[in-house]
Order: sequence, then C-alpha cells, then structure tokens
Amino acid sequence: MTDLLAVAAATKGFLPDDEAAALRAAAATAPPGLWLEVGTYCGKSTVHLGGVARERGAQLVTLDHHRGSEENQPGWEWHDASLVDPHTGRLETLPSLRHTLFDASLDDVVTVLVARTAQVAAWWSSPLTFLFLDGNHTEAMAQHDYAAFAPHVVEGGILAVHDVFPDPADGGQAPWHVVERALADGAFEAVSQHGSLRVLRRTARPVTGRPGE
Ligand code: MG
Repeated sequence: MTDLLAVAAATKGFLPDDEAAALRAAAATAPPGLWLEVGTYCGKSTVHLGGVARERGAQLVTLDHHRGSEENQPGWEWHDASLVDPHTGRLETLPSLRHTLFDASLDDVVTVLVARTAQVAAWWSSPLTFLFLDGNHTEAMAQHDYAAFAPHVVEGGILAVHDVFPDPADGGQAPWHVVERALADGAFEAVSQHGSLRVLRRTARPVTGRPGE
C-alpha cells in the first residue's frame, strides 16, 4: 500500500499539512462522481485528493498549464529554478507531476489535463461533485475559474477554495473575493474553514454573474 502522505510530503507545493488534512476531510464529504482540481503544480494536493477519490470511488481531473503562475516566475518570491525546462527556458511542472503520480500509484484515479483554464472552460460540460479552486490568483483568473466551473457543481457538491485571506495583510484578495461571490449569490453555503482553506456546499440556486455584471 502506497504511503500517500509520504509521497505528498515529498512533493513540492504550497499546502501545509493541516490544510491538506482539512482538504481531505472536505473531499470525503463530497459525493462520488467527477472531481476537478484547478491548479496542479507538482501534484501535492493532487495526491491528497486522489487518495480520497479512490476511497470514495470518484475520478479526479487535475487541470494546469504547468508553466507556473506569476509568483512562480523568475525574480518572484515563489520561483524554483530547478523546475525550469532547459528546452523552453520556462517553468515546467508537468514532469514533476508525472513522477508524483507514479510514486503515488494514482494513475488510474487521476486524469491530467494540460491546458489553460480558459481553453477547458470553452468545452467543459461534465457535472462535478467536488471542485477545488487553487489556480492562478490574479483577480481576473480567479473570477474566471469560478465562473467557468462552479456552475457545473451539482447540488450538494463541494467547493473548496485555497489561499483565502479576508485580511489584505495576510495575502492576495482574489480567492477571498471568489468566496464572497459564491456566498453572495446563494449558489453556495459555507461549510467550514481551516487556515486559508474554505469549504462550501452547492445549493439549488444558480451561479450568477459578479456584482455589477
Ligand atoms: Mg494554493
């Protein structure tokens, strides 16, 4: 039996252990079916979610263009020079993800989707029972990813959002604004929070546009 916690611990990423435990607990309450993670990086949270997906009989799709967010680029705080592909000169996290999934033996549970979220949003139509938003944290992209995928979450399905900081002193505001939007339009109700992880549940009400749209 693969020790998934050990694999996750050895994987590069930005998910503290206590938030990972909260993420697993949230996923364990999600109905089986199709789960989507937006923002894969090297697969740390993918391993946490994939293990729960296997237990629940769910399938997990993890979506990332694998070239890193702004804060991962050279000169930024979260840049890791060891992840630069010498062929492209660009950050490239897909090989690390493949190694992570191999070590975790999760290839039968996890489908890797390599694309920008806007590309996938154009054709995605599958209902989701779990959505984890942890992708690009710019306001425009965070809002885009919510608007693109939250409407596919079925009633009773779970939405988890990472890096939520209501106080600007603690971090960027875009994920918090997504949570505010999800609660404001009544499409989701708050379930729990732990650290910067927020967990919400889909109601019967529709996902609407941003305030003012
Ligand atoms: Mg994150």
